[in-house]
Amino acid sequence: MMRGMAITVREDLAGIPDYVPGRKIPGAVVLSSNEVAGAPPEAIVKAIAEAAGEINRYPAWSSDDLVDKLSERLGVEPGRLAVGCGSTSLCQQLIQAVCRPGDEVLFSWRSFEAYPILAQVVGARERRVPLTADHRQDVDALLAAVTDATRLVFVCNPNNPTGTVVRADDVTRLIEGVPEHVLVVLDEAYREFITDPDVPDGLALARDRRNVAMMRTFSKAYGLAGARAGYLVAPPEVAAGVRKVAIPFSVNRLAQAAALTALDIADELLARCAAVVAERGRVFTELRALGYDIPVSQGNFLWLPLGDRAMEFNEHCVERKILVRSFAGAGSRVTIGLPEENDAFLAAARDFPR
Ligand SMILES: *Cc1c(COP(=O)(O)O)cnc(C)c1O
Repeated sequence: MMRGMAITVREDLAGIPDYVPGRKIPGAVVLSSNEVAGAPPEAIVKAIAEAAGEINRYPAWSSDDLVDKLSERLGVEPGRLAVGCGSTSLCQQLIQAVCRPGDEVLFSWRSFEAYPILAQVVGARERRVPLTADHRQDVDALLAAVTDATRLVFVCNPNNPTGTVVRADDVTRLIEGVPEHVLVVLDEAYREFITDPDVPDGLALARDRRNVAMMRTFSKAYGLAGARAGYLVAPPEVAAGVRKVAIPFSVNRLAQAAALTALDIADELLARCAAVVAERGRVFTELRALGYDIPVSQGNFLWLPLGDRAMEFNEHCVERKILVRSFAGAGSRVTIGLPEENDAFLAAARDFPR
């Protein structure tokens, strides 16, 4: 009899899908992960290379330099900040820090795929509230779904994958409508691509309100998806809890160096967003003209609500060496890439039989 035959993992983990890596297709146009297409500027590569020279040393425990620079840049005291290994990690830490067994995390669906997985990993209960027919997060339905067990309400603004936003008066209604024990979390991973003036600034809300947290990331507009760094602004006791449950040193030396430099050259990096926004408009208009009934997006991506035909569309794109992100029975999300990449996608969309 071999030892270890009776070792088991938590039964409930069976509900979490194994990560299926995207198909590797050499030379494919990758529009599946909402990354920025451009290579990093030399300054970022140089900062990472310099940090690599000290890779035998542990990084700063709580990313002190990065916290200081963010604090100054955002006008937020360091005690209200937490830096994490991507904002996905901060989502998980937030759930860990706030939810006890049986507590609930509330979010719209469809939204960021990580929410249900992270809730389940931590052992919190998830509650999903359907989007409206026009793919928006439904603030009244969210408010109605809050229970005594609800601790967190995630609002993805703009929403991944639909690109739709929750406007200022709705966000205020949610923040003022939830009971005392609920923290509203604004996930602003795509903040830098927003052009709609009526979308509230989560930073200002997280600074001013007792029941709001806000998360942003260096992965999207700043072009550091491979480095893994994001930040949270929250009430001081919440931010402290989030820092406590972090895996020690999870924001590594290279990521800290890259993020620090990204803040130094923020103007240069964020200037790229304007080009993405212009392309977003062009691709949107062309898709609408082709008859795709797509919602207005404030992210660096568009949502094609293809329903039952989503996977067929996905295959159609793969055959043309274009990778998009598709959800069976729901739709396909396409990242806005370089103009020629978008043209390749539009050509595929044009000859998809409808
Ligand atoms: C991409 C994304 C994030 C953050 O990703 P990280 O790379 O972990 O920082 C967070 N929320 C949403 C909705 C996203 O799409």
